[in-house]
Amino acid sequence: MPVLHAAPLFVISMKTLSILVSACLLGEYTRYDGGTKEFPELLQYANINAIFSPICPELECGLPVPREPMNLYLEAGETYMKGVQSATDFSPLMQDYLAKMMDSNRITDICGLILKARSPSCGIWDTPIYDLKSGEVLHLGSGLFARFLAQRYPEIPLISDEDYLVPEKRDEFWAKAKKTKPISGL
Ligand code: SF4
Repeated sequence: MPVLHAAPLFVISMKTLSILVSACLLGEYTRYDGGTKEFPELLQYANINAIFSPICPELECGLPVPREPMNLYLEAGETYMKGVQSATDFSPLMQDYLAKMMDSNRITDICGLILKARSPSCGIWDTPIYDLKSGEVLHLGSGLFARFLAQRYPEIPLISDEDYLVPEKRDEFWAKAKKTKPISGL
C-alpha cells in the first residue's frame, strides 16, 4: 500500500482590495494652497492587502493648483461650490466631472474610499454648508464628490481620514471593503 507523503493543499485567500484615496492624503500636492495633507496612518493601520490609488476631484474637474479656496453655499435649496473671494460658481465644473465619472470602472471596481475631512469636494458629513447671504454656517454636509458617491454607490464604503483614526470606525470600514469587490484573489 503506497503511503502518501504529499502535504495537504491549502488555498490561502490573498485578496487585494482596491481603495481610492484623496490624493492630498497620499502626499500629493493637490490642495488649493499648493500643499499636501500626507496621512502616514493610512498604511500604519492597514493590516490588509490593499492597493491605494489617488483621486483628486478638484484637480480632475479642471481646477488648477494653487486655486481659490472654495466653500459650499446653500441657495434656494441647492448647494453650490463657490470661490470664497470671487464667489465664482465652480459647481458646473464639478457636476460635469461627476457625470463623466458615473459608472466609470474607476469607481465601480473599487472596494472603498478614504477621503479628506471637511473638504467641499471630499468631506463626508463634516463639511460646513454656508448661507450665501449671511455667510453663516447652516449645518454640516458632504462635499460634492462624497455626496455623489454616497447617492450613486451606497454599497461602497467611505471613511474620512479623521474617522480612520478611530479603531471601531476603521475596522467597520475594512470589514465592509472586504465584502465589496476584491479585484484579484487566489
Ligand atoms: S479635492 Fe479632495 S483630494 Fe483634492 S486636494 Fe481637496 S481634499 Fe484633497
